[in-house]
Amino acid sequence: MTEHALREQIVDTAREMERLGINQGTSGNVSTRWLDGFLITPSGVPAAKLQAESIVWLPMDIQEPSALIDAGRPSSEWRFHRDILQSRPDAHAVVHTHSTAATALAIHARDMPAHHYMVAAAGGNSIRCAPYATFGSQALSDHALAALAGRSACLLAHHGVIALGRDLGRALWLAHEVEVLAKQYLLACQLGTPPVLPDEEMQMVVEKFRNYGPRTP
Ligand code: 13P
Ligand code: ZN
Repeated sequence: MTEHALREQIVDTAREMERLGINQGTSGNVSTRWLDGFLITPSGVPAAKLQAESIVWLPMDIQEPSALIDAGRPSSEWRFHRDILQSRPDAHAVVHTHSTAATALAIHARDMPAHHYMVAAAGGNSIRCAPYATFGSQALSDHALAALAGRSACLLAHHGVIALGRDLGRALWLAHEVEVLAKQYLLACQLGTPPVLPDEEMQMVVEKFRNYGPRTP
């Protein structure tokens, strides 16, 4: 895989997010590891206008916003992309969306319980919702990391979704699944509090998911 091919993959992922209906306009962002840093979508650029050359590379230990000027204008959420990629060796790609149903749940700061076995695709018996913090802030990144402990997806209160994966395809797949699960959960809530699957069953499904899901050819 060359750097250019990875940049193209990021652009394709951003476009696919829109095609799947899990993102629109300039919301959301995408990153993946490259060398001792990561490639990330630029800030405020709609998917249709993205180009491989506009994807920004940042060193993994980036700290100072002044250092960002030379690198181009990375997504305002470079902090949580950096912190996830730094602290989660299992994650090679991060996808962030404002998908509608998942965000509706996140507006109520509600964790998604085990209403469906597919919740286990995110690594446990729930998909947690991180408390609200301003977009782009270190506080948002800290809250997201905590909500992602032992999980590969979380909700962000009053904001959206983060999904990670071993590659871009896997992270995108999970982001889409989270939106489908949120739609199912919201519909089920209309008939009362949805019953949930027992913890032991969810633990078994988590194990099964270690060998399930899309793979990069
Ligand atoms: P960027 O355009 O800076 O990536 O911001 C979009 C977003 O979703 C912020 O949370
Ligand atoms: Zn966002």
